[in-house]
Amino acid sequence: MTQPADAAERRAIKPVICYPNETLPVPDLELYRSARATAIKTGEVLIQPREADTFRVPAGNFFRISSVEGPQVGDLNLWNADDISERFYPGKSRALHGTHLTTGERMWTSFPGLRPMATIIDDSLDWYGIDEFGGSVHDVIGTRCDPYTGNLLSGSQYHHCCHSNLTRALADELGVSLQEAEPHVHDVLNVFMCTGFTRDTGQYFMKASPVRPGDYIEFFAEINLLGAMSACPGGDCSAEHSSDTAACYPMLVEMFAPAEGALGNWQSPPLNGYDRSHGR
Ligand SMILES: [Zn+2]
Repeated sequence: MTQPADAAERRAIKPVICYPNETLPVPDLELYRSARATAIKTGEVLIQPREADTFRVPAGNFFRISSVEGPQVGDLNLWNADDISERFYPGKSRALHGTHLTTGERMWTSFPGLRPMATIIDDSLDWYGIDEFGGSVHDVIGTRCDPYTGNLLSGSQYHHCCHSNLTRALADELGVSLQEAEPHVHDVLNVFMCTGFTRDTGQYFMKASPVRPGDYIEFFAEINLLGAMSACPGGDCSAEHSSDTAACYPMLVEMFAPAEGALGNWQSPPLNGYDRSHGR
């Protein structure tokens, strides 16, 4: 199409932030961290490469995801453990915080809950920031690697994409069929994954994750959580996923319980306050 006469003028309009987040409830990181300092480890799950596993974290407890043997990214799903129809909502979390999450930011739940389900209290990769390609770590812009897209693009039948790994893990956890579990699997927090959008074509890109063994990200559970983590077949996501080509490593999930009274009168956040009358 031919550009209108005022094309440059229209492009030059400055953007405005869609959701200014100054009025978001601020997590009490100091309280969370002081409770974490004396918390006791209650369990751990070692996620095998190209597999997923589940874990449960009661409200007010903590969980840490660590790189253990080599650079590896993971796909994280979270549900309200008491009602799995309330689950992580990456789209709204992205709209509220930006394309990548780090310390002090939160994972928000789906409608009608729209409340914080987990708060990031520590991130050993928070130094990374945004690199010269626009890449950053722990994104909420990708989806999860899945066999349907692989089939669409190359006719493949690959069974260890994060989507399938998460589906198997959730089915086993709930004791239901794969068909019943699959619709509960949702878009993820891409833990340790380094991603962005290219400036010229706007395409989703990945690059070798800066994560190294010992790196971790740690969360405070705002509600009772059921989690599932997949150690992505993409490994550090430096080259390809949806195949068995990349070097893959396990990932460690550890859970911690705070000492009695360490959280004072802290309480789980209530469901969103919108009255749901939708104008009728
Ligand atoms: Zn994956």
